[in-house]
Order: sequence, then structure tokens, then C-alpha cells
Amino acid sequence: MVVSLGWLYASGVPFRSLVGPLFGFAVIVPVVLWLNFRARRQWLEALGHDAKFLAHMVGRRSGRHLNTELYTDELRPLSEVVQKERHKLIVLGLTDPLCDVGNRRALEQWLHTFFDRPETKAPVSVLLIDLDHFKDINDRYGHDMGDQVIKKFAAELRNRVRECDLIARMGGDEFCIVFPQTRLSVAMALAGRLRTQLPISIEVTKGVLHTLRWTGGLSVTDPFDISFKEVLKRADRALLIAKNQGRNRTEIFELSLKTDERKLQESFLH
Ligand code: GH3
Ligand code: MG
Repeated sequence: MVVSLGWLYASGVPFRSLVGPLFGFAVIVPVVLWLNFRARRQWLEALGHDAKFLAHMVGRRSGRHLNTELYTDELRPLSEVVQKERHKLIVLGLTDPLCDVGNRRALEQWLHTFFDRPETKAPVSVLLIDLDHFKDINDRYGHDMGDQVIKKFAAELRNRVRECDLIARMGGDEFCIVFPQTRLSVAMALAGRLRTQLPISIEVTKGVLHTLRWTGGLSVTDPFDISFKEVLKRADRALLIAKNQGRNRTEIFELSLKTDERKLQESFLH
């Protein structure tokens, strides 16, 4: 525009007739540019706020606590309520609805955590427990009474494990006890202690006792494991062997073989 005005002036156009366009250029254009800049800045601020909010929510959900100074005083009480509800939901999602122990998801999280932490390469032993002939209770006394037996059995387990041990219900009449930082020989002793300490019968309903029998499969993590699921698979295999050998016993899947031999044996068993 400056060039065009200069050219017009040089071509003999009187200066007075150029004042209008010059005024327009000097005042209107900066005003338009300023308004445009302000609108863009407001838009970017709003976008940044939304992005921060989203990042915060996603970060919270995935367990990463982002250090964003996002909450204003008005939002803070709301955020505390949300956090409390969120905590309740997490606990619900990891607890077995019948017994006051973890569920399968909790068990997988525990094992995953032990497996993933390099500082906890200490052995973790796992004992799978399945009640013997549990269906008989359901058939004889009904499903609700069966539920009561499962509940009472879980309570008995809770009372007999160490403070550091973790119990989860795998589903049905099957439980899993995780012995953190426990080598197999110690876990064998703990499983043996459970067998002698658990009551020999459980009251199904008033005056009706059911003889308590259970079968166990025990194994331990190994430095060669590629996933936390390996130890569960071995314990499950031991449990199956124990069931086939007549129940009411605990079998151990030992890892005493050399790695190559073990791999061969495992592929043979699959
Ligand atoms: P085994 O000695 O081979 O373990 O036989 P089992 O009769 O104990 O039967 P199994 O462990 O194979 O299956 C467990 C049964 O428990 C299957 C199902 O009928 C019953 N069940 C599964 N979930 C529940 C539950 O939540 N409540 C009750 N009462 N029964 C359940
Ligand atoms: Mg059973």
C-alpha cells in the first residue's frame, strides 16, 4: 500500500487526496491487527486450559500424577470428591464381591508389579488352592450355602497367612496366595502350616458341618520367566497334578532343572 501511495504521489496526484488512504493505513490496519491478535490469544488460552485439564485427567487415570496447578478454589472441593469416588471405584474393581480378598485383576496387578520391579527380583511364591468336591455343597445345600462356605474359607485363609501375604479369589472355589519375597522352601513350609492349621470342617448352616478338603499347587518365580503369568501356569499345572493324584494334597512345581531341560520339559507338557 505504501508503494502504491508513493507511486500515485510521484505520478502527480495531489497530497490532499492521499490523506484518506494514509489515515486508513495508519489507524484502521493496526486496530484490525490488534483485534485479531487479541482474539487469537484468548482462543489459545482457552485451548491451553482445556489441554491442561485433559492432560490432568488422563494423567490421573493412568496413575501418573501430573504436577499441574490447574484447580482453582472453586474446582478443588469437586476434585476431592472425584478423587474419593475414584479411589472407591479402584478398590471395588480389585476386590472380590463375595469374599473380602482381591480378585483376579488384583492378583495380576500384584504379580505384574513384582515382576516389573528390578529391585524386587527376589523370588515370589504362588499357591493355588481349590476346594475338593465343592459342587457337592451346592448340590446338597444350595448355591447360597455354597457361597457361605467360600466366604468362611476365605476368612480362615486371611486369619492364617502372614501380614505380607496376598490373597485373591480366582473365581468359584479357587484361591491364590502370593508369598512375596519368599523362596520355594519357605513357601512349602507355609503351605504345610496352612494344611495343619485350617479347620477340618466348616459350618455350612447351623449344626451342619462340611469336612474341609482342599488341593494346592505351588510354584515360584524364576529369573528366566518372560511374564508374570509363567508362575501362575506352573502353579496351575501342579494343582492339576495334585487333583489327579487324589486331591487333599499340595503339589510343587519345582524349577530344579537346567534352563534348556526345563524348556524342553515345558514344551512337552504343553
Ligand atoms: P474338584 O474337587 O475337582 O475341585 O471339584 P469341585 O466339585 O470342587 O468343582 P470345581 O472346583 O471343578 O468347580 C467349582 C464349582 O463351584 C463349579 C460351580 O458349580 C461352583 N461355583 C462357581 N462359582 C461359584 C460361586 O460363586 N458360588 C457358588 N456357591 N458356587 C460356585
Ligand atoms: Mg473345586
